[in-house]
Amino acid sequence: MQFNELNLSQDILRAVEELGFSEMTEIQQESIPLLIQGHDVVGRSNTGTGKTAAFGIPAVESITELNKKNVSVLILCPTRELAMQACEEIRKFAKYKRIVKASAVYGGASMERQIMELKRGANIVIGTPGRVMDHIRRRTLKLDNLRTVILDEADEMLNMGFREDIESILADVPKERQTVLFSATMPPEILAITEKYQRDPIQVKIKSAQKTVELIDQYWFMTAMGRKTDALKLLLAAYSPESAMVFCNTKKTVDELSEELIKSGIRAAGLHGDMKQAQRTQVMNSFKAKTTAVLVATDVAARGIDVSGIDAVFNYDLPQDNEYYIHRIGRTGRAGMKGSAYTLITSRRQQYDLKDIARYTKAKISELPLPDKEDIISAKAEAVIHEIFGAPKPAENAYDILDRLASQGVDYREAAARIINEKLQKEIESLPEFDIPKPLKKGSRVGAKTVKIDLSIGRTKRAAPNFILGALVDATGMSGQDFGKIDIFDTHTTVEVPEAEYDYILDSTNSMKINGHKVEVKLYKGNTKDKSSFKNKNRKPETKSKPDRKKSAYGSRKKTDIFGEYTANRRKRTKNRH
Ligand code: ADP
Ligand code: MG
Repeated sequence: MQFNELNLSQDILRAVEELGFSEMTEIQQESIPLLIQGHDVVGRSNTGTGKTAAFGIPAVESITELNKKNVSVLILCPTRELAMQACEEIRKFAKYKRIVKASAVYGGASMERQIMELKRGANIVIGTPGRVMDHIRRRTLKLDNLRTVILDEADEMLNMGFREDIESILADVPKERQTVLFSATMPPEILAITEKYQRDPIQVKIKSAQKTVELIDQYWFMTAMGRKTDALKLLLAAYSPESAMVFCNTKKTVDELSEELIKSGIRAAGLHGDMKQAQRTQVMNSFKAKTTAVLVATDVAARGIDVSGIDAVFNYDLPQDNEYYIHRIGRTGRAGMKGSAYTLITSRRQQYDLKDIARYTKAKISELPLPDKEDIISAKAEAVIHEIFGAPKPAENAYDILDRLASQGVDYREAAARIINEKLQKEIESLPEFDIPKPLKKGSRVGAKTVKIDLSIGRTKRAAPNFILGALVDATGMSGQDFGKIDIFDTHTTVEVPEAEYDYILDSTNSMKINGHKVEVKLYKGNTKDKSSFKNKNRKPETKSKPDRKKSAYGSRKKTDIFGEYTANRRKRTKNRH
């Protein structure tokens, strides 16, 4: 169905056409008519399906000569970027409808400027809940004549702890109003809000997870936990995306990784919620202008960000939620363009989680070996050939130099080879040395070399295996499955770990505490025989002579496995950590 089949005013149709929209997306087709009729709506659809227009067009349509002097529509968004983006898009729809004045209010920016803008007669206000509350308290935002409240990305706003602000805003605005809610997921908290604040809401659900991801080629790579950054550098070098996003699960990782990438000469920048507004805007602008090639971000900071022409998405950390995976990779492959998504996997549990994601999204995610230096050199050779082929005709003195070199014994062929070599070297000098971690056989760690680490806590300080494992999982971000046999002695404990992760584990546990005791971790060199050693019932020790090991390892993935459960809880807990 086309926009011009709707009964929209000419001003809006003209603007929409200019934006290049002709066919409506499903969510638009379903919600725009309902919203214009004044219904309360709960809309659910994936990212990139045009929700801003779905509520933005009716919002612009609703402004008339009669209500233009008051704030008539309030739109709440989870982040400053989304508020700005929605405001910009709404201004585009209103290009030919001069009475519409859209204004964005968000934290981290000058209050005075926002107050000025509001005073100049804003009738559509888009903002983050915190700042909207601020303006309400200062009476610089008056909502007495409000007719419509829209919650965009409602699930994310709740995740970010905006529940109280939202409820207080909803309780504050006129009872006679339209309440609209858009969300990618429908957790119970959203339903509670719906029940409490909406009137006979009509549900609009577009379930097409597949649709958004079908143009995206998806791959995963096995790497050691401690080599993820190196693996990412190799991937960036091999695929040389012009514009890519890298997703991490925590702000700290965003900071560290972006710094590390910049150090190796990659045009990267980080984006997360703790950054100053000015800085975030600068990063976004630079990424949009393609000056920054690689944007490293958390899910929340990147949520809904709409930048065109992103050719690859990298999951540095596996997303903590299936929906997040779709959101992340949906940044590429937009508007019918092809895109690629690459996911780093560091354990068998993650591999299993990824399978679950693939099932959920009905996508095919194939394993690829990490590229090695050879692969990258041959890729770069192509680039150099291309570059030389397309180079402009050299000036006369370039030939003079060649002749001079030849007269001194460096013939043309040798001279050209030296220059080409230098070009190639420059491309690959920043590449990490990588002894490619072998893809684990049939997805298990069978045969992976292990070493034992020694922890300075034992039975006398009431060390228990689940505490030890929990602390290790927490400190390293690895999964319980990555750790082998745990032996608890009176004053110390040994844990079997994959050799490839040894350095990483030592690094990430240097300030680890268990039961409130600071624990030192080092390589274990002693005798492993001790009659009081703890044997883990759920996980079979990794003994190579056991023929059914693989099977039993799979068996231990059951929910009842304390380690599985630990990890599951942890995933829940880390969900809000952005
Ligand atoms: P969502 O909020 O669902 O993630 P957006 O509103 O950010 O999606 O829209 C994603 C992109 O699709 C934007 O660039 C928007 O301009 C574009 N878009 C929206 N509706 C249409 C349409 N009907 N035709 C073409 N492009 C559209
Ligand atoms: Mg959106």
